Amino acid sequence: MSQVHISTHPLVQHKLALLRDQRTDPKKFRELLREIAILITYEATADLVTEDVTVMTPLGRASGHRLRERIGLVPILRAGLGMVEGIRNMMPSAEVWHIGLLRDERTLEPVEYYSRLPVSPTVDVCLILDPMLATGGSAVAAADILKRWGAGCIKFVGVVAASGGVQRLTKAHPDVPLYLAAVDERLNEVGYIVPGLGDAGDRLFGTG
Ligand code: URA
Repeated sequence: MSQVHISTHPLVQHKLALLRDQRTDPKKFRELLREIAILITYEATADLVTEDVTVMTPLGRASGHRLRERIGLVPILRAGLGMVEGIRNMMPSAEVWHIGLLRDERTLEPVEYYSRLPVSPTVDVCLILDPMLATGGSAVAAADILKRWGAGCIKFVGVVAASGGVQRLTKAHPDVPLYLAAVDERLNEVGYIVPGLGDAGDRLFGTG
């Protein structure tokens, strides 16, 4: 389980409790998801490669670092969209590549309906963004798509997972580390994480 990182940061845990709360309205839910995504990505990107630079301050020369790797944000539609804006503000040069995966209501397996990746990879590190890792089917499919594309380094950045989803993703893609705020007990009979936070897409877009 060393590839599974669950944030213990008090800010993340405080915001997660508010995010889960059924009284949280869509505006607040959006804000919280955006903030949690930033905090978890901060942890997920701690090992990004940098190179040395020298800059001139008003008072003299200072040595520093700049990111060497090109980063791709890969939100899984639609709830992953709620994680993009905050992360992108932190990393304005990141590319955003959307992947659309529907869950077949009967089998609970993912069906790809959107992906427009260019022929060869344009980024070095891909962050798959999806607040909910339920069965793990969508995350596995997204990592499959990115690997077929030729992506070198892939990380999964989520918020709430079910333990079965974590197991499925780590088994299918042991080289993909997971960064999360919580792992919950189980899925209910229609594939929702319990206690989870409900349907993240509906709560984000006010469609529930
Ligand atoms: N997707 C959601 O939005 N919530 C769940 O609990 C599971 C999948």
